[in-house]
Amino acid sequence: MRELVFATNNLHKTAEVRQLLAPDYKVLNLQDIGCTTDIPETGKTFAENAALKTTFVHTHYQMDCFADDSGLEVEALNYEPGIYSARYAGQRGDQANLELVLKKMEGQSNRKARFKTVVSLVQNNQSYFFEGVINGTLRLESAGVKGFGYDPIFQPDGYDITFAEMTMEEKNEISHRAQAMRKLITFLKSAV
Ligand code: IMP
Repeated sequence: MRELVFATNNLHKTAEVRQLLAPDYKVLNLQDIGCTTDIPETGKTFAENAALKTTFVHTHYQMDCFADDSGLEVEALNYEPGIYSARYAGQRGDQANLELVLKKMEGQSNRKARFKTVVSLVQNNQSYFFEGVINGTLRLESAGVKGFGYDPIFQPDGYDITFAEMTMEEKNEISHRAQAMRKLITFLKSAV
């Protein structure tokens, strides 16, 4: 089984991606390799932020590595929160971020939103990028308790439930991250 570092501390994302890459790859996260550095995400795009993480791990640990940077883009909010999705309401966490989006969307009839992921891969000193997008709408209120982040208010197009009402398997069929990861997996398998 090949080892790859996933440059994240997020356990939900680690679990989702482990499921997608099993049984071909053993996915190690930052905790698994003993990396406690808070890698700065100072880029202006998802791609720049993802690449900052893979470059850091590759430079300091000399391991092949991938990282994702994702976020919610809301059309009526000029595609905010975007790269600021994790800290939209400061450092107060997922619930505060979600509530801020709902507040800013009060009275707004255009509820279109999308999740986007860019995956950066550094393998054999080469850099690659893979992207995934899922379109949907924002609910007026939270529904569901599964998942993380903005999942309780995001309803993907073609469904009448939110991401937070789906099982991890259902979400992995369609999610932005799963799409980008599938592109990564196809690439990794073709490169063997
Ligand atoms: P990250 O850069 O991939 O860690 O994502 C940044 C932020 O975007 C997260 O902290 C969440 O607030 C939000 N986000 C990313 N992916 C998802 C998802 O699948 N569901 C809900 N929120 C997400």
